[in-house]
Amino acid sequence: MAIKLFAGRIRYKIIAVVGIAVAAGLIATAAFYTTHQERSVLAQNERTMRKLTESVIEGLQSVMLAGSADIAQAFADRLKRVPEVEDFRVLRIDGLEAFRDNSTIEEVNERRGEEEFLTRETEARIRVLDRRDPNLQRVLATRTILSIYDEDQNGDPTLTFLSPIANQKACHKCHGSARPIRGVLKLTTSLAQVQRDILQARQDSLLVLVVALTGTMLLTGFMLGRSVVGPIERVTKAMSRASTGDLEYEVPVGSRDELGRMAQSFNVMTSELRNTYDGLRREQDKLTTIIRSAGEGIVLTDGSGCVVLVNPAAERLLGKSREEIVSGGLEALLDDPEAMRSWLAEDHAEGPVTVRYGRHVLQVFASTIHAGDGHVVGSAALLRDVTEEKRLEEELRRLSTTDGLTGLYNRRHLDATLETEWHRAARCKEPLSVVMFDVDHFKIFNDMHGHDQGDRVLCRVAEIFRDTLRGHDIACRYGGEEFVAILPATPASGAQQVGERIRAAVAASEVDGLKVTVSVGIACVPWVVADSPRHLLELADGALYDAKRAGRDRVSMAGEVGGEAATG
Ligand code: GH3
Ligand code: MG
Ligand code: MG
Repeated sequence: MAIKLFAGRIRYKIIAVVGIAVAAGLIATAAFYTTHQERSVLAQNERTMRKLTESVIEGLQSVMLAGSADIAQAFADRLKRVPEVEDFRVLRIDGLEAFRDNSTIEEVNERRGEEEFLTRETEARIRVLDRRDPNLQRVLATRTILSIYDEDQNGDPTLTFLSPIANQKACHKCHGSARPIRGVLKLTTSLAQVQRDILQARQDSLLVLVVALTGTMLLTGFMLGRSVVGPIERVTKAMSRASTGDLEYEVPVGSRDELGRMAQSFNVMTSELRNTYDGLRREQDKLTTIIRSAGEGIVLTDGSGCVVLVNPAAERLLGKSREEIVSGGLEALLDDPEAMRSWLAEDHAEGPVTVRYGRHVLQVFASTIHAGDGHVVGSAALLRDVTEEKRLEEELRRLSTTDGLTGLYNRRHLDATLETEWHRAARCKEPLSVVMFDVDHFKIFNDMHGHDQGDRVLCRVAEIFRDTLRGHDIACRYGGEEFVAILPATPASGAQQVGERIRAAVAASEVDGLKVTVSVGIACVPWVVADSPRHLLELADGALYDAKRAGRDRVSMAGEVGGEAATG
């Protein structure tokens, strides 16, 4: 937990790094300082003791020259009682302690002859150093003071000086001049106190170190907190708030350094983002308003195929609630999942498809929406209500192919249908008949009863004409008071029967008590040879002309010998 907290806070990381660096520096400084201090204390101590040793030697020599060896011994014994002096001895050059036996006195008495020194009553031979002791030999050889660092039996450190006592000219009288060194002074001092002082110094240094380190860490933490970590944490906090969508938060800019500039840049960035986001939201609102108020039905899915948008027009056109559309999914939008799948796959490459759904005729634009990198982000279906358009189209088509007065097909439709039937008859090797008739003396009828009356008669004739034909026969108004019927798969005999039926029915009918007759001309392939639909019509027209010439109110068949018509 603590490690986690540590890892998550830059403040602690910086303090740890700075602490380690400062601690390393302080420890190195303290180690150097204490070692240096220790060395200088020891060196100072050594210099002092060396001076002491030299003074003692001079004192001893003075006493000896005065001929008072016993005083010298007493002086040596008194020195031993000095607290820091652990041992003090005057040695002869063979390592035995001087002033303990009579050998030197006897030797001196013998050399001097006339004057005699009194011998000691009690003698002792005390060996302090071995005759071949290397330190002793070194002092004798170099004739300089030798300092030796050692430990006493308690384990406390000691410093021993072996100092040569020179055989001066004044000494020659008693001791001769054979040897340059008369004896060796051995002074051992305890370094325990010095050691304690050093230890104390180390403890003090350690204390200072801890205090300095703690102070540095606290100061570093405080300073870093104020100048670095605080600003970074404020920006971090603002960033995490921005990542959750809160772009309103502004980071206080506390300085003009890099961190201050970072905070400033962050504020500029969030402000820009805010503007962009607001702009996008406005655009989205506009788009949503447009989609919702659009007359076209719009249904959108996300990348996983879930329906995410249904506008009211879609609900109205499909007669389904939003919930039904959402739960059914895009594929079931028009209750034909297979068709919707194929439209989505085609991506309306073939243009929109038109389907009838309930009371509506809908134009469907189904498409898959791809992102810039090509992956699918959703699908869309746009439904356009073309019911009225289709109705008008149908009406237009009907008007363009029908005659306004009688409601029969017009000449344009006649031409187109005759062309189609001509080819079909040829292909299927079936007969094809054309029946053409014209109202007799209609000009006179108009003149006598008026044009309106003439129109009513034409309408009645057309009605009779339509009623007389079979379902797949095509009744057309050819122009004026002329009519044509196309009779697919009808032989000449059948056509003749039809023509006769028309003629008879018109002749039998009356409008407002007025009667008219019609003359009928028929042409039938293969009964006659015609090389085109137009030729077939011309043959029927010719037969009609024959019927007129023959006296009217009769049927004439093209191709009959002498143009004789069959009459009712
Ligand atoms: P026939 O055909 O017997 O030789 O004599 P006809 O008098 O009918 O001669 P024609 O075919 O030349 O005359 C056609 C007349 O039909 C001319 C015109 O007054 C009349 N007519 C043509 N179209 C219409 C129409 O739409 N309404 C009315 N009322 N009369 C029409
Ligand atoms: Mg006519
Ligand atoms: Mg006529």
